[in-house]
Amino acid sequence: MSKNLISRKESFTCIHCGTTTEFRPGIERNHCPNCLYSLHVDLEIPGDRAATCKSLMEPATVSLGRKSSYIITHRCLSCGKIIPNKAAKDDNVDRLIALINANPKLAK
Ligand SMILES: [Zn+2]
Ligand SMILES: [Zn+2]
Repeated sequence: MSKNLISRKESFTCIHCGTTTEFRPGIERNHCPNCLYSLHVDLEIPGDRAATCKSLMEPATVSLGRKSSYIITHRCLSCGKIIPNKAAKDDNVDRLIALINANPKLAK
């Protein structure tokens, strides 16, 4: 049970805020829907789980993607890797908007 990596097909407990999130079919998830933090587990391709870093990634910026979806740019707190991720449908909207407002130049 020490496997607390964020996976798209299992429930997981966020190591940043402690929220346990159940897997829901149809939602691709690689970050916590509450605090939006992620883990550095992918190396090159989203989902490859090839990274050895496995450190916390903070939601650095949020921008608007196509079809009014949100794109969260995660930055690894350990190695500095930047990975953009699509926000999930049930992500914490207040936090998404707060991040957009913190970086007004990125909002389109
Ligand atoms: Zn969290
Ligand atoms: Zn890293």
